[in-house]
Amino acid sequence: MSKKPNIIVAEDEEYNFALIRIIFEKEGMNILWAKNGEEAIEILNKNETIDLILMDIKMPVMNGLDATRIIKKINNNIPVIALTAYALPEDRAICMDAGCDEFITKPINRADLIKTAYKWLDQ
Ligand SMILES: [Mg+2]
Repeated sequence: MSKKPNIIVAEDEEYNFALIRIIFEKEGMNILWAKNGEEAIEILNKNETIDLILMDIKMPVMNGLDATRIIKKINNNIPVIALTAYALPEDRAICMDAGCDEFITKPINRADLIKTAYKWLDQ
């Protein structure tokens, strides 16, 4: 990938966001922070070139599931990676039903996050 990928990171907890930002910026990625699902949609609507969305599920105002459903109606081609503290098999199914392309669990694992991001950026 020649240009810097633009990634929306939807995460309400500042500490988690800061951690994700450090990981992605070391990879040369451009990060846009959304603090809830509504902000993720606003950022998406203002930016023509969003390459990937990392979506926390539990957020105030609008959660990650509702945001993903709307985002996939706006643009079905942008990959959405769900990020959640839940780890039950049915939670994975709920995320996929909402339109998420992949599911990773907290606590954030640097290697997993990078591997998953590149998997979807390269498509
Ligand atoms: Mg959260």
